[in-house]
Amino acid sequence: MNEPHLSQTAQGTALFETITSQIEHDGPISLANYIGLALGDADHGFYHKQDPFGADGDFTTAPEISGLFGEMCGLYLAYMADLSGLKQPAILELGPGRGSLMADMRHVWSQIMPQLAEAPVHLVETSPALRQRQKDRLAPADLYWHIGLDDLPATPVFGIANEFFDALPIDQAIWRDGQNGTTGSWRHRPVGLIDGRLGFVDGAPLSKAEIDIWHLASLAAPADGSIAEYCAMADAYAAKLATHIASYGGACLIIDYGRDGPSGDSLQAVANHQPVDVFHQPGDADLSHWVDFSALRQSAVNNGARLVGPVTQGDFLQAIGIAQRTEAVAKLADAETRRGLFAAVDRLVSSQQMGSAFKVAMMLPSGTGLPPGFADDQGSTA
Ligand code: SAH
Repeated sequence: MNEPHLSQTAQGTALFETITSQIEHDGPISLANYIGLALGDADHGFYHKQDPFGADGDFTTAPEISGLFGEMCGLYLAYMADLSGLKQPAILELGPGRGSLMADMRHVWSQIMPQLAEAPVHLVETSPALRQRQKDRLAPADLYWHIGLDDLPATPVFGIANEFFDALPIDQAIWRDGQNGTTGSWRHRPVGLIDGRLGFVDGAPLSKAEIDIWHLASLAAPADGSIAEYCAMADAYAAKLATHIASYGGACLIIDYGRDGPSGDSLQAVANHQPVDVFHQPGDADLSHWVDFSALRQSAVNNGARLVGPVTQGDFLQAIGIAQRTEAVAKLADAETRRGLFAAVDRLVSSQQMGSAFKVAMMLPSGTGLPPGFADDQGSTA
């Protein structure tokens, strides 16, 4: 179990050189630091140097599969905004990618709810290349870009985050059984160099405070080599969002693959639609993890808001009427378009595809009622 995890593949990217020399100089770096560089380095990070989405890219997301995804989310947020009385709402998206989801939501709002179509749009995006794409796609909307959530206007926000939280850097810890009768411990799992290759090494034991923050205190007797994950950035974003929604109102849909609890070792790397080693050519592969919705709920509650769900994406979309909407759109389409439409919607809802791995949750002000789509299924895991 003590074998280091080694990359099996060539690693010779510019970022590999940067990371390697940093480790040679200062010792192992945290996994979150490694992921932050691989995805977000200003020159060579995955999200900064290319457009990773769509059929030609490294992965495809729901809004890129069908415009109906954004339409349904837009209708849903319009309903939530209407319920709240529409007091100077602002729109928020975390990690807008190509801007397709926001464009599809705004299209719906322009038809049914001008107050939302005219509201300022706040986009949380780190990549200058993607900011430019979003600007081109969403003009003439009133757009504001942010790195964090500190500068949102003091108004209710109606927001969405699709595949945002899975892209935030995580850390991992590994359980090591004690030797000769001593008790075992959770140890950090930083990234070091093993024979010139990047790989996981054992780091310092987690402190008592870290064990609490990582929610590991209640885990009974983990097996030697068990992996735990913690996403400090997700906690921070969820806490800020919760504080805002608790103070000013609003609602934010959070859609991602994940579970209502931890997933063990869920870090994965994908390049050209294929799984690759997490240390494969840093900057050339997407790195992501399964979102722990229970941790997001904890952040929401700690900051005066609540999180409803998660329910599966398939159940949510069906409950809010995607089948009826698809039928209505299909009636206006020719046979080939109709086939494409049904295939795309099947991809979004069927449990063999995205329907059950992906979950939908929503951050709301504290309270008790369950909105449509969450009513029967709150807390479902799958
Ligand atoms: N929501 C889009 C894109 C998902 S990919 C879709 O569904 O197609 C993740 C998005 O989050 C990208 O736009 C990426 O640049 C952005 N992102 C990743 N890490 C970020 C961070 N730390 N802060 C802000 N944006 C980030």
